[in-house]
Amino acid sequence: MRVLGIETSCDETGVAIYDTDAGLLADALYSQIALHAEFGGVVPELASRDHTRKLLPLVDQVLGEAGLTKHDLDGIAYTAGPGLVGALMVGACTAHGMARALHIPVLGVHHMEGHLLAPMLEENPPPFPFVALLVSGGHTQLVDVRGLGDYRLLGESVDDAAGEAFDKVAKMLELPYPGGPQVAALAEQGRSERFRFPRPMTDRPGLDFSFSGLKTHTLTALHKLREQDALDAQARADVARAFEDAVVDTLVIKCRRALKESGRQRLVVAGGVSANRRLREALDTALVKMGAQAFYPRGRFCTDNGAMIAYAGAQRLAAGQRSQTLQPRPRWPLAELTPPEA
Ligand code: ATP
Ligand code: MG
Ligand code: FE
Repeated sequence: MRVLGIETSCDETGVAIYDTDAGLLADALYSQIALHAEFGGVVPELASRDHTRKLLPLVDQVLGEAGLTKHDLDGIAYTAGPGLVGALMVGACTAHGMARALHIPVLGVHHMEGHLLAPMLEENPPPFPFVALLVSGGHTQLVDVRGLGDYRLLGESVDDAAGEAFDKVAKMLELPYPGGPQVAALAEQGRSERFRFPRPMTDRPGLDFSFSGLKTHTLTALHKLREQDALDAQARADVARAFEDAVVDTLVIKCRRALKESGRQRLVVAGGVSANRRLREALDTALVKMGAQAFYPRGRFCTDNGAMIAYAGAQRLAAGQRSQTLQPRPRWPLAELTPPEA
């Protein structure tokens, strides 16, 4: 089954074609980063308008790259939520309109299920069951994954997502949006011994996270340095490093705990922050020690993309699942999902 996947939940227009026999045939991405950069964050109305402009040309592009026409498609999957309602609406309307015209099935996919399944597109995909750490701009969650659509939430952030904290710290450091990769790059020049920031909620049992206090701690550290007239290039890098170390350490501690408590031996790490090099190194080292293994998407499939939506949609469409109505779900808890009915 050849499935066109459409992702428009936030500030990336992603389109891809996944074939359940041949694998990923094509994928294309248009990022709106430059459009939103001057506002320091995503402007919802501008995002919707830009998706409208870019989506159909990207569909033509992936069809061309795959050597197909739209009549060769067997189904269409789109991100139905969670995300910005106007942005989601562009993908949903396009998907339903195309599917109606082509007389093929259509399905609204959960954006975080897309992220969660992204490592399935790699050479060595993780078999079920596994624990998933979803770390992105809007989510920090640990999920026990028993199979497709069989998700149990183990823990999540009670305030900011890890990616959101990276983005806010970037702003404090006057780095451009989106800040995660920028903070990580600056931290490369930083020294880990100079400051030690707190590892929130690691000193008590449980699998929830909190990154809001760490963000405030970072702001206070920067204020102090500024007051002492000591905020030079090295100090900024040292702060970035201390912040990154704290986030990475916290995530590693909770992942180890989740694996121990669930008895799973595999960890899937997905979402934008899973691109972070130091996080991957720390997780790999920690997991080897416990006889477990981590699985990641390739770099460009960590952040939003159409390939993960095409893949997730193809699994469900091939099992017979359909969406009859066009209903974006800006808020949609992952644990509400169920496996496709046989
Ligand atoms: P969600 O998936 O929760 O709806 P989103 O789609 O906006 O949110 P993603 O596109 O998955 O999030 O990821 C973007 C986030 O990842 C941003 O917060 C960005 O700063 C962060 N990020 C990307 N690369 C890195 C990196 N190398 N280190 C740290 N953070 C990173
Ligand atoms: Mg994005
Ligand atoms: Fe995302």
